[in-house]
Amino acid sequence: MKTIGLLGGMSWESTLSYYRLLNEGVKAAKGGLHSAKIALYSVDFAEIEHYQHQGDWDSAAKALAAAAVKVQAAGADFLLIGTNTMHKVAPEIEAALSIPLLHIADATAAALKARNIRRVGLLGTAFTMEQDFYKGRLQNRHGIEVLVPNSEQRALVHQVIYNELCLGVISEASRRAFLAIIASLVADGAEGVILGCTEIGLLLSQSDTPTPLFDTTAIHTEQAVARALAE
Ligand code: GLU
Repeated sequence: MKTIGLLGGMSWESTLSYYRLLNEGVKAAKGGLHSAKIALYSVDFAEIEHYQHQGDWDSAAKALAAAAVKVQAAGADFLLIGTNTMHKVAPEIEAALSIPLLHIADATAAALKARNIRRVGLLGTAFTMEQDFYKGRLQNRHGIEVLVPNSEQRALVHQVIYNELCLGVISEASRRAFLAIIASLVADGAEGVILGCTEIGLLLSQSDTPTPLFDTTAIHTEQAVARALAE
């Protein structure tokens, strides 16, 4: 079994999900007392969030590349960055490593293609919904059309991520608001919706809506387990 590297803490609420899902995946495949081999570095999210909202992506890239080098030194065979947003600096992180990155957008694209989804809605932070590093990769590398909510809806989703989900607050009102946004993405032609923030799975699950949901935390960990167990 390979050792899964995980750059976590963004936020730790979602890193808990990563840790549980990686271990459950290995246990489901191998049984008994088997569990995942994981090298985890968990950052102080306040430092990273400060860089994000200052637009200081260079400092964020340096901090995360340094942390990723420690994950590699701890024996990881490949790396997961446990946040969609910080894939904005994935190129700088990859450049600092000799081990490969399992990119969350590529993992998600594979799951979308397996379900024949060609046009998808995207929920995530404003950075993820508005900038090109994520949407652009889905569109240009994978030929998947990406729809995002309107500006008022994007502001709500962003606010709920940072002021509720990353703080462990799960609100019924926010769940209803997210479901209404998903319904409007479907009305605009989305065939499914990406939960493109690693905490959204704490708020919503497939049982809340008939719209196919693509939970990036579940998809990323599932593909990591498959890679860790591959010959
Ligand atoms: N975990 C979130 C994501 O997947 C947001 C936190 C962050 O900005 O890293 O984008």
